[in-house]
Amino acid sequence: MIAKRCPLIAGNWKMNGLKKDGRTLASTLAKHIKKKKKGKQPFGMLICPPFTLLGAVGAALKGSAVMLGAQDCHISESGAHTGDISAKMLKDLGCDYVIVGHSERRADHKESNAMVKAKAEAAIKAGLKVIVCIGETLAQRDAGRTIAVNHRQLRGSLPEGATAANTVIAYEPVWAIGTGRVATPDQAQEVHAAIRSALIRALGEKEAAKMRILYGGSMKPDNAKELMALEDVDGGLVGGASLKAKDFWAIAKSQT
Ligand code: PEP
Repeated sequence: MIAKRCPLIAGNWKMNGLKKDGRTLASTLAKHIKKKKKGKQPFGMLICPPFTLLGAVGAALKGSAVMLGAQDCHISESGAHTGDISAKMLKDLGCDYVIVGHSERRADHKESNAMVKAKAEAAIKAGLKVIVCIGETLAQRDAGRTIAVNHRQLRGSLPEGATAANTVIAYEPVWAIGTGRVATPDQAQEVHAAIRSALIRALGEKEAAKMRILYGGSMKPDNAKELMALEDVDGGLVGGASLKAKDFWAIAKSQT
């Protein structure tokens, strides 16, 4: 039996936005989701602004079904780590989620799988849900190593104690992030199915069937429906298009 997974549409604002834009974007989305339907939403919506906007965006989302997330956290709860933010602080600020292991952090900050795993574990311990990002580079795909790379990253980054309730996986081919080049439905489904198989081995059939696997990489209103209709794609992690309320909402609606 195929498990019913409630799709998640998550927006990663990256290092973009000032207070005014952030508030406007967040309150526009909050209005959309309120307008949509009374009762249960057919999908979850999450926005992950930069640290500096978490307070303002959290206030704009107050009382709405749109959830708040951060883009990274430290592995420790507190201490001498200048410039870093702990998962406990994010929880205290009202965050529901945190993204860990985004390819930009893996590249810019040399984050290893072990570090991503430790961050995810710290986040879960603090009561947050995590979105663990994995994905191959173009050179790895061209070398025929796509599945092996994603399996290795998943094995190395999956937190101890991961369940479908506290962990979401995001498959983000690095070559598709911010490039306008999107995975074809066949490419996306192939990797998502391989991730699901690896989750079955790691967590057992029941938990793996419930765990959401998001696609990320140049998701736009005109390609979202096709991608999100795939059997093992349970929503999207959206970068550029999440900065425009109209586009992000169109992507979310294409899920229904
Ligand atoms: C991302 O950074 O998570 C992402 C998917 O970016 P974009 O949608 O801009 O490719």
